[in-house]
Amino acid sequence: MRFHVLTLFPEMIEQGIATSILGRAMDRGLLSLEAVNIRDYTASKHKKVDDYTYGGGAGMLMQAQPVYDAWQAVQDRIGDRKARVVYMTPQGAVFNQSIARELAQEEDLIILCGHYEGIDERVLEEIVTDNISIGDYVLTGGELPAMVLIDAVSRMIPGVLNNHDSAETDSFMNGLLEYPQYSRPEEWRGKKVPEILLSGDHAKVDAWRLDQSVQRTRERRPDLYQAFMEAHPDYGKPKKKRRKKTGDQENL
Ligand code: SAM
Repeated sequence: MRFHVLTLFPEMIEQGIATSILGRAMDRGLLSLEAVNIRDYTASKHKKVDDYTYGGGAGMLMQAQPVYDAWQAVQDRIGDRKARVVYMTPQGAVFNQSIARELAQEEDLIILCGHYEGIDERVLEEIVTDNISIGDYVLTGGELPAMVLIDAVSRMIPGVLNNHDSAETDSFMNGLLEYPQYSRPEEWRGKKVPEILLSGDHAKVDAWRLDQSVQRTRERRPDLYQAFMEAHPDYGKPKKKRRKKTGDQENL
């Protein structure tokens, strides 16, 4: 997958993504990242990219022309296939795991980062296909949100995580928060690892983990718990025993 980030601060993106798991995934050719400096595309001889807002109000707004030309240069490199353009904005749909999973299907993804008061609406109307927020708060720029999105989407690309199973059991993958986990030693500061995890009985461990996931979700995220229970109304109810059929019933 190829990420193309349109930003006024490319070094922020490059430094933020180049390390650890994502850095290794880039070295292995599973994903690539180009951070495009919008300022390189301004037609202003003073390299200006922002100006006052019409109608008054505090702060500066990123102008349409450099953003459009930066996008056009990237789209030309991609070729005929129109890439989706995600604008990171507090006015977008709130990002979640299922959006990450869906975006991970794309071959190319263009991500647009605003700064200052945001970006002239006219260029947003021209190029943006998706508006995405990382939560109901306002940051100074779209760079951190873009990094959050790139990280979450990259984890969904097969091969990026050493063991793909670890994404499968992550929180949100089945609509629940993940169960608690433990590593060595078996006892730390008087706290013991739950006995069942040492039993070697995989079916019991799976059942315990599911139960812990459900309990944790109920306590911490009642909204997710409600959705889970609506989708699995029989969860936690004793299983009905099948009545043995008599010969007559069998013939019905
Ligand atoms: N005036 C804008 C508004 O009220 O919607 C906020 C502009 S914000 C100071 C500057 C830039 O930061 C935005 O253009 C956007 O790219 C980014 N940004 C800020 N908060 C964000 C959030 N919660 N999610 C995604 N991007 C955000």
